[in-house]
Amino acid sequence: AFDVLVVGAGPAGSAASIYAARKGIPTGIVAERIGGQVMDTLGIENFISVKETEGPKLAAALENHIADYPVDVMKLQRAKRLTPASAVQPLHEIELESGATLRARTVILSTGARWRELNVPGEQEYKNKGVAYCPHCDGPLFKGKRVAVVGGGNSGVEAAIDLAGIVAHVTLIEFGRELKADAVLQAKLRSLPNVTVVTGAKTKEITGADGKVSGLVYEDMAAGRDVSVPLEGVFVQIGLLPNTDWLAGSGVERNRFGEIIVDAHGATSVPGVFAAGDCTTVPYKQIIIAMGEGSKAALSAFDYLIRASAP
Ligand code: FAD
Repeated sequence: AFDVLVVGAGPAGSAASIYAARKGIPTGIVAERIGGQVMDTLGIENFISVKETEGPKLAAALENHIADYPVDVMKLQRAKRLTPASAVQPLHEIELESGATLRARTVILSTGARWRELNVPGEQEYKNKGVAYCPHCDGPLFKGKRVAVVGGGNSGVEAAIDLAGIVAHVTLIEFGRELKADAVLQAKLRSLPNVTVVTGAKTKEITGADGKVSGLVYEDMAAGRDVSVPLEGVFVQIGLLPNTDWLAGSGVERNRFGEIIVDAHGATSVPGVFAAGDCTTVPYKQIIIAMGEGSKAALSAFDYLIRASAP
């Protein structure tokens, strides 16, 4: 059995496994793919101290760094169930889709998240070529250009306000008849001179030319006609889905968005089970934050183990 078993090997899980292994305790990491979302990222310019890198390069660096330590790495494996330790079964159990079961004294959940996609023509084709999901990451790439933000909830409106300070013009597109964001954010948005808000608009297509985004087509549902907006970038802000469905019935508490509820130490509602990164309630889903949280969860797991084995 492992002292620390990490589930997920994105920035959070990779950091957690290295921090745990550096304590000299039996550590395992099980994941579908090392690197996680980083593998889907082209340019990274906000991983502090590294001015510029690319996702696959950073993912390879994570894998190399883990390989420097005696971590049992189990790749291409999906976890499907967590059964917490109990009076009859003193270890936590992680069941894999392959049928195997892993046992550990502590578990760190770091299964990350995925952006909800629009599923319209052009979205896949122009991903990283104008279609973006993270304003903190990719906003500066659109300096002085025209962009759309799709989604009028808090994250969409926050993204539009953020982008309006960088880009030439923002068109905010909301499907519903009204924006869903908090009133204070809506007021701020409407005070900005370079933002147009469109509601009752169904995004139908992202168009491109010369291999990059050239516009967006939405249906004005009240008028029943299609409107074409010429622009260079589209930020999709219709939700971030944590990869935590598999925890249903485990007793690990999640909020209404499915994020694992953690305290300041990365502890979940189940003793000995910790969580880190995009799958948790910790705000701002970023690489550097996920790494910090993963490290913190590993130190918390170590602290838990010392206390659990005290005479
Ligand atoms: P993830 O990276 O999502 O990793 C999750 C891990 O869990 C993966 O190993 C996955 O295979 C595994 N997993 C999931 N489910 C299971 C399961 N059931 N069983 C086993 N394993 C499982 N952030 C920045 O800071 N800068 C950027 O420039 C930037 N650009 C981005 C661009 C794009 C296109 C995207 C999608 C994200 C970007 N981000 C960026 C956000 C950043 O990638 C995430 O915040 C970060 O990767 C979160 O790390 P994580 O370890 O919590 O989760």
